[in-house]
Amino acid sequence: MSKLLTTTNHDRDIAGLKYIYPVMSRRAGGLSIGINFNPNNACNWRCIYCQVPDLQRGNAPEMDFGLLADELHFFLDYVQHGDFFTRFNITQEQRVIKDLAISGNGEPTSLKDFDKAIRLIGEIATGEGVFPTSKFVLISNGSLIHQSTVQAGLSELARYNGELWFKLDSASEQGRKLINNTGQSQKKLLEHLKIAADLCLTKMQTCMLHYQQAWSDSEKQAYLRLLTELRDRQIKVQKIMLYSIARQSFQPEAESLQKANIEEMNGLAADIKALGYDVSVND
Ligand code: SF4
Repeated sequence: MSKLLTTTNHDRDIAGLKYIYPVMSRRAGGLSIGINFNPNNACNWRCIYCQVPDLQRGNAPEMDFGLLADELHFFLDYVQHGDFFTRFNITQEQRVIKDLAISGNGEPTSLKDFDKAIRLIGEIATGEGVFPTSKFVLISNGSLIHQSTVQAGLSELARYNGELWFKLDSASEQGRKLINNTGQSQKKLLEHLKIAADLCLTKMQTCMLHYQQAWSDSEKQAYLRLLTELRDRQIKVQKIMLYSIARQSFQPEAESLQKANIEEMNGLAADIKALGYDVSVND
C-alpha cells in the first residue's frame, strides 16, 4: 500500500532505517533527507518546544559508521533509481532531493567523531551524484563549537559548500534559560558564532513563540541589538530564518506555548532587514 509522505509527516521511522529519514519539506520545496545522529533522543539542551519524544539530557551515542554508510548508499540509490517517489505519492514537481540535513533527535555535534561523520556523508553524497546539486545542511544549537572535532566537522562541511543553521531563540541569557534551558553566556554565544562564521556559511534559525517573557518587546530589542553587534564586529551571518512552532511540543510546557502570529513575525523581519540582513519567515 502506498503511504502519503506529507510536509507534516516527519516520522523518523518512515523509511525503517536507524540514521536516515525522509521529510517532504515545505520550507525546502522537495525532499529533505534527514540524518539523525541521536537515535537515543539525547540532547544537551531542553527546549520547551522540543518535539523529540522521551527527550533526555545527554550526548549522541557511538556511531556505527558502517551502518551509516550502508543506509546512506541504500537510500540515495532508492530515491534516485528506485520507486521511492511513486510509493509515497510525491508530485512530479517535488521529486527532487533539496538537501541532506543533519538534524536529529538531539544535538548532532555531540557525536564523538563528528568530523568523521561529516566527511563520510560528504564523500558518499558526492559519489552518488547528489552533491553539489543538493545542499548539505547542519542544524545545531551551536553550543559545542569550542570543541576541535566540531570545528573540524564545520571545515569539512564548508568543503562541500554546506551550511550551518545555528539555533538562536533568544539574544538574552534569561531568554535562553527560559526557552532552551541552557546557561549559555552571552560571551560564549558570540565566540561560537564567530568561530562558526569563520569556518563555514552560517545562517541563524530562530523560533518565535510566546511563553512567559519569551519574545516580549524587550526580547525583540535585545535580538536586534545582537544582530547590530554581529554586523559591527563583522561576524557574518548570511541569513536570519524566523519560524514559529508548527507541531506539538513533547515538553511539560507544551500546553502553555503560543505560536507567534505572522504579523508579529513580519514586523520583526522588517526590522532585521533594515539592519541589512537577508531574512525569511515561515509561520
Ligand atoms: S536543541 Fe533541538 S533537539 Fe535539543 S532540546 Fe532543543 S529542539 Fe530539542
